[in-house]
Amino acid sequence: MNNTQELEAKYGLPSKVIFCKRCVISNQRPASEVEFKHNIKTKKVTMNIGEDGICDACKYAEKKEEISWEQREKELVQLLDKHRKNDGSYDCIVPGSGGKDSVYAAHILKYKYGMHPLTVTWPPILYTDYGYLNFKNWIEVGGFDNITFKQNGKVMKLLTRLSFENLFHPFQTFILGQKNIAPKIALKYNIPLIFYGENEAEYGNPIKDNKSSLRDKAYFSMQNLDEIYLGGVSIGELREKHAVDLADLQCFLPPDYKELEKSDIEVHYLGYYLKWIPQEAYYYAVEHANFQARPFRTEGTYSKYVSIDDKIDDLNYYNIFIKYGIGRCTYDASQEIRNKHLTREEGMALVKKFDGEFPQKYFKEVMNYLGMDQDYFYELQDKFRSPHLWKKVDGEWKLRHTVNKDGADD
Ligand SMILES: [Zn+2]
Repeated sequence: MNNTQELEAKYGLPSKVIFCKRCVISNQRPASEVEFKHNIKTKKVTMNIGEDGICDACKYAEKKEEISWEQREKELVQLLDKHRKNDGSYDCIVPGSGGKDSVYAAHILKYKYGMHPLTVTWPPILYTDYGYLNFKNWIEVGGFDNITFKQNGKVMKLLTRLSFENLFHPFQTFILGQKNIAPKIALKYNIPLIFYGENEAEYGNPIKDNKSSLRDKAYFSMQNLDEIYLGGVSIGELREKHAVDLADLQCFLPPDYKELEKSDIEVHYLGYYLKWIPQEAYYYAVEHANFQARPFRTEGTYSKYVSIDDKIDDLNYYNIFIKYGIGRCTYDASQEIRNKHLTREEGMALVKKFDGEFPQKYFKEVMNYLGMDQDYFYELQDKFRSPHLWKKVDGEWKLRHTVNKDGADD
């Protein structure tokens, strides 16, 4: 008898694990938007898998095949014609780190469509050599102006450690800063357009109007300081208990709501207008800005060029595996199945081989950075395993359900 449904499901996850019939993702995948929420108590929104057994991201991929990309490009040209400035000022912002997607977006906007992008970077917590080289090449070989916001290192470390301990989410501070830096710079320099790369619907996140004004984006604005949590800790507690000055937290916080209300800044996803295929963005970045993949495979997956600029990222994906039972390989393979670069069977085999592999390479360095004892990390990780996903079998933790149907309860 299967009693999975009676087991506790943490984080508001669906108690029954269902895998998409077409790719390898499960309904436990949290929407990325959830990661931007500041409050730990926020209810999780996860990947929807329909009654037909197919996830929203796969459905979107199917819909993408019917899209008239010619028509979409016309819409893009119209938008750009409306905002292009030839008076020496910037007309759009492309946020990014110099990964393949930001290289592609900035380059094509500038050199194909004649825009004048300012690139904006919220640097990784711990740059990898390849990440830093790619960032430099983006700016120097690609040819862009760039504003990089280097954070207060002490506060960054404190918040990263807190979000690690409280949320098992070492990347929260990075994601918050990365999301907020572009709107803030846009407001400061009065730049009318912000271009993110991929459409979030690619990942099965709720499909919202692509062309939204900045003030509609709830997670970009801040109305009440008391509602905001960083690393699972309220702003008040950070100031009182951790003696952090509000000025030192400013860069992690969204722009002021009143300022946003006055602005006409628009946020767009280039992936809405141009057919976005990660592998092609990669080749484009190699050709135009000397983008370099890492010569070694990323632990936990089979890929060499996706999210390679932060040493903490590998551990971040591992923690996602602990919390949601979804490893980095599942993410990569699902996307490549949707783009028809892999069959589902190939994806399943890769997941079996790589998902949940421990990110040994940078582990020690990351623990040193956080001032965290390795034993403490292992203790902590078990606290974050959701009972409906994990079972201890002969002293070893095993997933109860896997896409390969070889889990402890399958
Ligand atoms: Zn799917």
